[in-house]
Amino acid sequence: MIIKSSTDEIQNYLVDASNFRGYCDAIYIPSGTMEVMNILKEANNKKQKVTVAGNGTGLTGGRVPQGGIVLSTEKMKNIIEINSEHKFAVVEPAVILKDFQDKVREYNLLYPPDPTEGNCFIGGTIATNASGEKTFKYGSTRVYVNKLEIVLADGDLLKLERGRSISEEYKLNLKTESGKEYRIEIPVIDMPLTKNAAGYYCKKNMDAIDLFVGSEGTLGVIIKAELKLVPYPEKIISCIIFFNNEKDGLNFVFDARDKSYRTRNKKSTANIDALALEFLDENSLNFIKEDYPQIPANVKAAVWFEQEVNSSNEEILLEQWMQLINLHNGDEESAWFAANEKEKKNLEEFRYKIALKVTDYLAQYNVNKLGTDMAVPNERFNEFYYFCTEEMKKNKFNYVAYGHFGNSHLHLNLLPRNESEYEKGKIIYKGIYTKAIELGGTVSAEHGIGKIKTDYLLEMYGEKVLREMAKIKKQLDPNLILGYGNIFKESFLK
Ligand SMILES: Cc1cc2nc3c(=O)[nH]c(=O)nc-3n(C[C@H](O)[C@H](O)[C@H](O)COP(=O)(O)OP(=O)(O)OC[C@H]3O[C@@H](n4cnc5c(N)ncnc54)[C@H](O)[C@@H]3O)c2cc1C
Repeated sequence: MIIKSSTDEIQNYLVDASNFRGYCDAIYIPSGTMEVMNILKEANNKKQKVTVAGNGTGLTGGRVPQGGIVLSTEKMKNIIEINSEHKFAVVEPAVILKDFQDKVREYNLLYPPDPTEGNCFIGGTIATNASGEKTFKYGSTRVYVNKLEIVLADGDLLKLERGRSISEEYKLNLKTESGKEYRIEIPVIDMPLTKNAAGYYCKKNMDAIDLFVGSEGTLGVIIKAELKLVPYPEKIISCIIFFNNEKDGLNFVFDARDKSYRTRNKKSTANIDALALEFLDENSLNFIKEDYPQIPANVKAAVWFEQEVNSSNEEILLEQWMQLINLHNGDEESAWFAANEKEKKNLEEFRYKIALKVTDYLAQYNVNKLGTDMAVPNERFNEFYYFCTEEMKKNKFNYVAYGHFGNSHLHLNLLPRNESEYEKGKIIYKGIYTKAIELGGTVSAEHGIGKIKTDYLLEMYGEKVLREMAKIKKQLDPNLILGYGNIFKESFLK
């Protein structure tokens, strides 16, 4: 095990991609399960705070410590097994997502969860229930977690397998490897019917694994996972279309989304069924224009779509997409079609660039992230989008709006240039998350709550539900050592 405590050595662990900053006494870097168990046992005895760190690409300050120690999983980075026959892989938490995806590709397999930032650790993606472009077709990380090994706050080991620990209605029993038993009351709540990464997953007759997926380092340290894989598609069409009118771009997404649902319901393979449906507004295109001077002049929006095809349906599907593009006045002439794997990667990078530039912007102006990660029900998304952009225009605030619009999921990033603009932005932001909640949406669809969105979670679920969620935390971590400040404000843990 490595322990780092000098100021220079620990700096990198005191921040994440949200630019939220923290402090701690030391960084503990275990190389295996026993060391993780020992670190937690000792910390629990001393009632010392432990913040679990993945690769720090999180956007909510989740891995940023507020005192105590950091437990960095970085040395536990083995891919233990890839089983191509039964389509699963077993990994340690610090396997880098993009390396893992490249590796399983060699077996002609796909691991679909793909948060735009591929440098994250698999453990971090499980802890935040990450999702991304392909979520429109494949769902979020949760769907791909078959088994988990978790070290609990007292150092005990919990092994879970999907399908084997199901709650009886709202009563969930857990048994650790040492034989200790927990009887957990799951709060009765209406989770939004959108993509969701806000607070603990709570459902009637739920699987115990789902409580830990998305628990943001507050219930235990994920040390091993078995993940489900799917066959790698024969071919993927990938294309970016530009629109001279924003409404046309939005309608193109909505139409493609609805057509995709219909195709899935019919189980057809010969109709539009998007893999990804991503939108970028005019401000986003201007924000990355210097990196992509080939973006056509005066366009108001762009949509990136992907669809899986094979040799027998490729032609007919391309034809259908062309019809849809023309129907919504997309510019076929200026569209970027990926003709090969390299060009497909370039289109992915184009979409990644906007998210990356926002992160660079925050560091440059030294302001915290003020970006929405909200999803609302499909039928309310148009209303939500215009509410948000009108708010920004009314307040003359710089912003970029983009995101996973196929999932009715908006990343509207406010771009303050200093602390006073940031404070003004927070007031506008409050109006936006209040609207998302009013429309039946979530305050976090994929980044999690971390430390910077705890107020929004309170607004979304109310005090009673949060206290019930906090009870689960207090049962599994009675000394409240893990993930201090994540999901719950301190007052909810008393
Ligand atoms: C440019 C950019 C684009 C992004 N786009 C997306 C996107 O499209 N979709 C999306 O979902 N996210 C996105 N993200 C956010 C980020 O990549 C994800 O949240 C990612 O899942 C975090 O992984 P990490 O290893 O960096 O975790 P960290 O940031 O280190 O930690 C995240 C949280 O997980 C906990 N944690 C980490 N490892 C473990 C473990 N082993 N056991 C228990 N808890 C643990 C931490 O305590 C913390 O609360 C983006 C980030 C950037 C910078």
